[in-house]
Amino acid sequence: MSRTTLRIVIILATLSIVGITMTQIYWVRRAFDLRENQFNHDVNAALSSVARQIFQINKTPSPSNTPVEQISTNYFVVNISGPIDAGLLEFLLITEFEKSNVTAGFEYGIYDCIDKCMVGGNSISPKKVKMQAHASTLPAMNNDGYYFGVQFPGLKANLISQMGIWGFSSAVMLIVIFFFVYTLFVILRQKRLSEIQKDFINNMTHEFKTPISTIAISSEVLRDPGIVHTPERLLNYATIIQNENNRLKQQVERVLQMARFEKEDIGLKKEILNVHDLIREATKNSSLSLEEKNGKIQLQLDATSCMAMLDRLHFTNVFYNLLDNAIKYTSKAPEICIVTKNTNSTLLIEIKDNGVGISEENQKKIFHRFYRVPTGNLHDIKGFGLGLNYVKSIVEAHKGKISVISEPGKGSTFKISIPVV
Ligand code: ADP
Repeated sequence: MSRTTLRIVIILATLSIVGITMTQIYWVRRAFDLRENQFNHDVNAALSSVARQIFQINKTPSPSNTPVEQISTNYFVVNISGPIDAGLLEFLLITEFEKSNVTAGFEYGIYDCIDKCMVGGNSISPKKVKMQAHASTLPAMNNDGYYFGVQFPGLKANLISQMGIWGFSSAVMLIVIFFFVYTLFVILRQKRLSEIQKDFINNMTHEFKTPISTIAISSEVLRDPGIVHTPERLLNYATIIQNENNRLKQQVERVLQMARFEKEDIGLKKEILNVHDLIREATKNSSLSLEEKNGKIQLQLDATSCMAMLDRLHFTNVFYNLLDNAIKYTSKAPEICIVTKNTNSTLLIEIKDNGVGISEENQKKIFHRFYRVPTGNLHDIKGFGLGLNYVKSIVEAHKGKISVISEPGKGSTFKISIPVV
């Protein structure tokens, strides 16, 4: 799938998921509002009936307008002309609410508007919430008689608990969204992996092409029967073939080494070694390529405690890889400085260079397998993007850490810390 098609598919799928979510929210909201309206209607009817019965008991005429007033979503007030016994009111409320199917727990309070005080109240709920705290908050109504207030403290929870099917469909939708996001994540990861692999194959082909064509040209020259008369030329071309062959061997070995490392059958042979000796050895190995570029290297091995449990071959490779990069990734004469120092029980090794540097965005990625900082179509510096991944794996296999500080155009410093013995 091409990048644009994938992007369009992702955008369309995301838009449809957003659309479905919005529709679901809209319908849940509507269902909730409907339930709330139904509840208000039922409570109004029940309270009107209670008020009617109280007027009959008190033998007072019913008012022309409705005595029930809704103060807020869960609070109702009913004006009654005379006093009413709290026990009787409670009985009437429970009976009428039951008739109207109002199952939410409620609190009620009776207020005497003349003496301006609460004269009774209770809380009717499964949890038996105490009324007192709320009773004192009953407002003084501009009324000459009595009124009682009914409040439903857990109204929202009650209404939500009645929306079972909507809760179920919302949960199903959340699961669908989760799987959608997960699938998207897997697709994008697979796509990235396949791109990395493609890059790797491109790189490898490019890396192998040069030695193969050099060997082809050299062997063509060697096939010339006249060459036996010029032994220096013969030796020269034979050496070229041998060198290029060695280069190919090295590259194949590097790839194989990574594949082996991935399967974790690397089997480190750890022994107590002097890190400074390994650094000196790696420096010696790099001296040829350093000389070719007129570079210089400075060793500032200040650590007093420099013995660590290391695998000689792999850890020398770590330094060699970092030095190789420091020499490769510079456009001027390389100036490299290796510093060691001790902090607590660790040995800190810094490899500074004056190279091209690495942008902040790429600093996080250079340790990923096959990652190479993009340079457009220019492949002037050879590599597979495997070196730093190998370095990191080896350092971590020795319970160490590696990090990089770098500024594009100014150079990079790779820092390794390992425990000392
Ligand atoms: P390779 O060198 O084979 O490409 P590495 O894993 O060693 O692979 O390095 C990954 C990338 O990190 C390189 O492609 C390069 O762009 C960047 N890099 C590594 N070391 C340095 C350095 N010292 N200075 C600048 N860039 C570097």
